[in-house]
Amino acid sequence: MNIHEYQAKQLMEKFGIAVPGGAVAETPEEAERIARSLGKNNLVIKSQIHAGGRGKGTFKSGFKGGVHLAKTANQVRDLAEHMLGQTLVTHQTGPEGRVVRKVLVTEAMEIKRELYFAILIDRALSTPLIIASTEGGVEIETVAETHPEKIIREPIHPALGLQPYQTRKIARQLGFASSEMRSACKLFAGLYKLFIKSDCSMVEVNPLVVTVGGEVFALDAKFNFDDNALFRQPDIVGLRDVEEEDPREVEASKFHLNYIGLDGKIGCMVNGAGLAMATMDIIKLYGGEPANFLDVGGGATEQQVTEAFKILMADRKVEAILVNIFGGIMKCDVIAQGIINAIHFLETQERRMVPVIVRLEGTNVEMGRKLIEESGLSVQAASGLTEAAQLAVAATQKN
Ligand code: ADP
Ligand code: MG
Repeated sequence: MNIHEYQAKQLMEKFGIAVPGGAVAETPEEAERIARSLGKNNLVIKSQIHAGGRGKGTFKSGFKGGVHLAKTANQVRDLAEHMLGQTLVTHQTGPEGRVVRKVLVTEAMEIKRELYFAILIDRALSTPLIIASTEGGVEIETVAETHPEKIIREPIHPALGLQPYQTRKIARQLGFASSEMRSACKLFAGLYKLFIKSDCSMVEVNPLVVTVGGEVFALDAKFNFDDNALFRQPDIVGLRDVEEEDPREVEASKFHLNYIGLDGKIGCMVNGAGLAMATMDIIKLYGGEPANFLDVGGGATEQQVTEAFKILMADRKVEAILVNIFGGIMKCDVIAQGIINAIHFLETQERRMVPVIVRLEGTNVEMGRKLIEESGLSVQAASGLTEAAQLAVAATQKN
């Protein structure tokens, strides 16, 4: 799960991390009011979307930049008018862009240096890892390519936590002056504490800035949370903004389905992540493109199968559905009944239908096949994975 920059900053404040003062607005008038209450004549107004690269982004209206400096409250209102309700395209949003529904009005800092600081889980080391660089404010991927020696990596022992000697070592490597050491180390320690306590999978502060006055601030923030830990993070769940998520994924998450939307034409319903990957591979092998990854899981209920099927059918890009189930814990008759229910439901609603190809194998396969045959629905049965993939690809090529 992701959150907005303004939410990340509120969270950071709770952990004693220095962030510029500010507040979020949904209308130009509100933005103006916040600007006045901040009482500064150096302000920044920032589009709030779940994507980076806003500064260099362009609105579909032609207006350039999702992050702007402003001197007066009137300017802030004008800029907010250009941003709110408009679609911002950045290198991270894809060409369709994202609608800006909120703007953050914040104090402008007099920046001396822009740095990069992130904490993530390193799967190879099985520990949290700090990644930092003196080259902040730009894309870290570019730095990694052109100046790999400028990337600092500091693994953290999961049981011992971030040690004071490590924060000092990183601060020295980042070139902090001795007068700035204390606030830099405090910020690193605060961010690590936040990372652990909030079950983050990544926190990225880009840029972390040193001001002309020698203060250290987190100017931008991108946080990801471990979905598997959300059950014990009700406050974090409260920060979720479903407007920023793929509507198909939002719907799937309501039914605890492991669903990831993709761009192809073949909707896939599979049990087990490994089988789902193999199914996507074989679709590609025969020249098709999957519309999604969907693992209905080992113990899916009839209702979950029904809902999963509805989500696939509702996707306008989907031109055929391939159901590939290996019944283990999951029984084939449960899957079959779920599909039948879903098709009946969609028929009564007179919704759009696409060809359905089903390959069932394993526990209760005979019962499953019989249910489908007797339902009288036009579902194509495939005897193997190859045939199933070929049928699905052929069904999309007819159109
Ligand atoms: P993004 O990464 O989405 O482009 P940032 O928050 O990093 O958005 O903003 C882009 C740039 O704008 C920053 O690298 C920084 O130079 C400048 N900037 C952002 N916030 C402030 C601020 N409060 N004061 C001064 N400059 C800022
Ligand atoms: Mg940034």
